Amino acid sequence: MIYGSIEAGGTKFVCSVADQELEIIERQSFPTTTPKETIGLVNGFFKEYAAELVGIGVGSFGPIDIHRDSPTYGYITSTPKLAWQNFDFVGTIKESFQVPIAWTTDVNAAAYGEYLFGNGSGLSSAVYYTIGTGIGGGAIFDGQFVEGFSHPEMGHMLIQPHPKDSFAGVCPYHGNCLEGVASGPAIEKRAGKKGQELDEEDAHWELIAYYLAQCAYNTTLMLSPDVIIFGGGVMKQRHVLNKVKTAFKQLLNDYVEVPDLDHYLVTPKLEDNAGTYGCLALAKEHQLHS
Ligand code: ADP
Ligand code: ZN
Repeated sequence: MIYGSIEAGGTKFVCSVADQELEIIERQSFPTTTPKETIGLVNGFFKEYAAELVGIGVGSFGPIDIHRDSPTYGYITSTPKLAWQNFDFVGTIKESFQVPIAWTTDVNAAAYGEYLFGNGSGLSSAVYYTIGTGIGGGAIFDGQFVEGFSHPEMGHMLIQPHPKDSFAGVCPYHGNCLEGVASGPAIEKRAGKKGQELDEEDAHWELIAYYLAQCAYNTTLMLSPDVIIFGGGVMKQRHVLNKVKTAFKQLLNDYVEVPDLDHYLVTPKLEDNAGTYGCLALAKEHQLHS
């Protein structure tokens, strides 16, 4: 029995196959171009495992339709990536592989990986944010994703601008929402160079930490999860997390008692593999229940 994982990101798709113990057997990534081209490569990857494949877990960029009774369940919906708007993702994969397909957002998948096997393991709840090309968040309580009429879009929460920051933000919908001011492209536009090229001492990091601290503050007061995990490319700057903790403490001002910050505000234990393991675990559970 083989489980498949598709992490569908805005820049690349990462496909993996694993055995029953979720040991990864093979992994490949493909650039995100058009559905025809990219899904063609995805199908090619899984084809040689088709006979043994029993389920696939997909974690996709979005927004996506997650409502089982909706006629567009399994679609990517209103993405700014025009070629992928209203793309029937699950339906298209099912045309090639008639196996159960678990379907969620990319960030929910990463959240699930950390919840089961990473820094959320053993806890009853976790919130995971990815700080990368965009900012997304996923929340899990007692093994269930938090969702209502749709999945959360926590990366677009409104935050207060730092008094020293006059940057208008890069979010095409909201300008200076969290994603608009603290995502990788926001850092690049404000600083004139990529986050990877900024020194640890660069003053821009104070701004980013201030915004991520507000994100942690809002998350704490709205959901009081057991842990908040910050992943994604921007968090490769390990020093940022300490600055976030300091700013978070100041903002919270001891209003509520929170878990020890070294265990409460963390980066992903599985690092870049959180999404893969999340998708694989979802594929396995979904297959067992279908
Ligand atoms: P994606 O969000 O596209 O899946 P990433 O999570 O790697 O991929 O996010 C890419 C963004 O993160 C880019 O804007 C990039 O500049 C930024 N980034 C990647 N690595 C680093 C790093 N080491 N330090 C700071 N920023 C980084
Ligand atoms: Zn926004």
